[in-house]
Amino acid sequence: MKRGPYKKRPVAERLMRFIEVQPDGCWAWRGYQLKGYGQSYKNGRHVYAHRVAYEEWRGPIPEGLELDHLCRNTLCVNPEHLEPVTHAQNMTRFQATITHCKNGHEFTPQNTYIRPDRPNQRGCRICRDKSVPRKGQENRDSKVRA
Ligand SMILES: [Zn+2]
Ligand SMILES: [Zn+2]
Repeated sequence: MKRGPYKKRPVAERLMRFIEVQPDGCWAWRGYQLKGYGQSYKNGRHVYAHRVAYEEWRGPIPEGLELDHLCRNTLCVNPEHLEPVTHAQNMTRFQATITHCKNGHEFTPQNTYIRPDRPNQRGCRICRDKSVPRKGQENRDSKVRA
């Protein structure tokens, strides 16, 4: 396989221009952002800046894995704050950081149910009960509430 000269440093230098190292250790991305994530370019395409940073400083991301932000700061591209996980692991961890549903109800053990269609997501009973009950669920719900 023929390859052009592999230049490693310019990538790091290009990244560093957009990185602001913060007192808490996070490397805040100051370049282009999309949906709360830093964006960089690779081979003419937009790619997540934190993925580029990870591959640059720590090595290739194992096939099929996503990078989880251990610091929960999605704009952070510090490779030390990133850990390759499966999509399911990432979703579970992400869910664990959510303490309220989108309507502001707290996910207490009593108010939380597992959605059968999306096992990685917690459902809010208050919101579910407000919406039209699905067939066959009414009996179970009244039992839980009693
Ligand atoms: Zn960080
Ligand atoms: Zn709710």
